[in-house]
Amino acid sequence: MNTEMELLVATHNEHKKEEIQQILGSDCIVKSLTDYNIHEEIVEDGDSFNANALIKAKYCFEKTGVPSLGDDSGLVVESLDGRPGIFSARYAGDHDFAKNIEKVLQEMTGVENRKAYFITVLCYYDENGAQYFEGRVHGNLLTENKGFKGFGYDPVFVPEGYTKTFAEMNPEDKNKISHRKQALDRFMDFLKVTD
Ligand code: IMP
Repeated sequence: MNTEMELLVATHNEHKKEEIQQILGSDCIVKSLTDYNIHEEIVEDGDSFNANALIKAKYCFEKTGVPSLGDDSGLVVESLDGRPGIFSARYAGDHDFAKNIEKVLQEMTGVENRKAYFITVLCYYDENGAQYFEGRVHGNLLTENKGFKGFGYDPVFVPEGYTKTFAEMNPEDKNKISHRKQALDRFMDFLKVTD
């Protein structure tokens, strides 16, 4: 990894910035949009996770010239032809987690195949263009909520090999196996190789 490389993460969310800073360690100085006084919302109108991650990373790099990281995540349900997919955050209501879960469960009424996965796509953009890193965690969806931790679809998602939902697990345990963690691990390997 370059010594003290600066990385602009395409988010206004300081919590997300800190999480990435912790995982990447002190050789990388992680900055957010707020740190660069960029206050506008980036319009995510891509038709795939990769396209949305690219839109965010490219926007940041072109605006600042600083190597940038964009991300997009969501829930992909096999029996719903991949929905809610890129619409996960606003499937029924914008960041209304309860309504979004309700819509997914309602669409899956009587459906036996409960297989789903969470996916994160990271796009790293610098003067050499775009590089993508992906993480997935496979599991099954319950028919009702269990647990109160986490966010989004966590209360109905049981990862493969576990009996608890993500919302019943401690955040540290979820973060060891999560789609986000896996994608970030791949990105870290890339940074080490390109040192
Ligand atoms: P984002 O791209 O990280 O903002 O994620 C988009 C949406 O996907 C969120 O609003 C959630 O609905 C869903 N999602 C992504 N990651 C998770 C997770 O770890 N648990 C539950 N829901 C998630």
